[in-house]
Amino acid sequence: MSTAPVKTTFELEKMVRPSVLKLQPYSSARDEFSTGSEEMIFLDANENPFGTPINRYPDPYQKKLKEALATVRGVDPEQILIGNGSDEVLDLLFRVFCEPGEANVITLPPTYGMYEVLAGINNVEVRSVALDENFQPRVDDILNIADENTRILFLCSPNNPTGNLMNASRVKRLLEQFRGLVVIDEAYIDFAQVKSWAKELDVFPNLVIVQTLSKAFALAGARVGYAITSPGIIGFLNKIKPPYNVNQLSQDHALEVLNNPASARALLKSLVVERSYLTQQLEVLPFVKKVFPSEANFLLIRVDDAGKRYTQLLEKGIVVRNRSSLPGCNQTLRITVGTPEENRQLVTILNQLPE
Ligand SMILES: *Cc1c(COP(=O)(O)O)cnc(C)c1O
Repeated sequence: MSTAPVKTTFELEKMVRPSVLKLQPYSSARDEFSTGSEEMIFLDANENPFGTPINRYPDPYQKKLKEALATVRGVDPEQILIGNGSDEVLDLLFRVFCEPGEANVITLPPTYGMYEVLAGINNVEVRSVALDENFQPRVDDILNIADENTRILFLCSPNNPTGNLMNASRVKRLLEQFRGLVVIDEAYIDFAQVKSWAKELDVFPNLVIVQTLSKAFALAGARVGYAITSPGIIGFLNKIKPPYNVNQLSQDHALEVLNNPASARALLKSLVVERSYLTQQLEVLPFVKKVFPSEANFLLIRVDDAGKRYTQLLEKGIVVRNRSSLPGCNQTLRITVGTPEENRQLVTILNQLPE
């Protein structure tokens, strides 16, 4: 249990856009009347009474799915907002907290590209503070670049594309001293050896955790991402989200996966084993200069000539990602851990690559 002092500088209502504070949310038929009872005759939403099992609008608050997620993550359902992928969750955060043309956010490159794209879409200034030579946040620089219009700091841990965790004491300093929201994107947390920052939610009112079922739960196609944070912040996100943002098929599918944790754990274990196999195999290749340690389901490697190696792999039918254009990532490729079979094919091909 953490006993850090609760920070007093974070005032939620002052962070929220005035228009969102005032907003009267859309009230759907299912908002006005919902019940667990299947016995009722529902003639309120202009649904077609015939046909498939998905003729009804989905639960706008995804109650069953939240209960399952809350159990898996050890939090309360009221602390969860589910989105159409975490990309929607991130967009909702911009739209609740960032006044276009006025607010700014801080990102720490090299990192996930969506923070900057979403900022652009929402006409919000991005201030970037590059990670240091160990891909760790420069705390003082971040605190110095923030001003009264800074609303969100995005931390990605484990970070994409570098694969490392953000140093815990630096993150803690940021949570204590940064005046806006600290969003920790934990898309890859299940591949890591550490616990989620969700355990600190009671201590830090400005903390928002973002997670997804896309990676460790193998559901990228279903588009299910979520925020875990205070019920107060969840309330504002709920206010602006599209009423039926997570479709019924995805809710059903996600529930099935969460209710079968043994098989998800088995997949996870295999990927972690395969990650070390690939690390060992990559480290001995003559054209690989460095394999960055990874707590995620991918490896960032530095090679002699990333463009050339990328093309050679492509010619052999293997698609990786060239990340060389990102700061601190010159001559790097990002390789996702595949099935054991795919990884062995990759290793075979890498060992046969021409000079
Ligand atoms: C893959 C990934 C996500 C997942 O996004 P979804 O929209 O939930 O599929 C989020 N953040 C990071 C850093 C990622 O790499």
